[in-house]
Amino acid sequence: MLKERYTLVFPPESSTKPITYLLIKQYDIEVNILKAEITAGKEGHLLIEVRGEEGNLRDGLEFLKSERINVLPLVDQISLREEECVHCGSCTSVCFSGALTMDRDTWMVNFDPGECVACGLCVHSCPLKIININFGQDDVYE
Ligand code: SF4
Ligand code: SF4
Repeated sequence: MLKERYTLVFPPESSTKPITYLLIKQYDIEVNILKAEITAGKEGHLLIEVRGEEGNLRDGLEFLKSERINVLPLVDQISLREEECVHCGSCTSVCFSGALTMDRDTWMVNFDPGECVACGLCVHSCPLKIININFGQDDVYE
């Protein structure tokens, strides 16, 4: 069983289709919606976590692409310039998902983009502005 997170970018004509229902029903994929910006008739954005067998996930993602939905791995939309980080811990205090954590042995910050929900709170908390997140057209944090 694999777990992955993706941002789906819907063209306006697909914004009202029951995509998550079809992924569950036809491909036996567990879908957890983490964030959504959907308006009928406009481009929409959905952040989802999917769990399933490798073949089912692959087929499900191909189905999404066949519906002209842009499928973007979440890890590609988040960046932390680790070489510039001073490990102050400010970002870990606002990250409720566990993506940013402080290692209590080394006092170094760890970043696990696989746990991120793209809330953007860490971006604003970082005094050095070294965290960037891009979720959706109007939602660029940097
Ligand atoms: S955007 Fe930042 S604060 Fe929010 S879940 Fe991701 S890493 Fe944590
Ligand atoms: S707030 Fe910025 S500088 Fe401080 S630990 Fe987080 S990423 Fe590093």
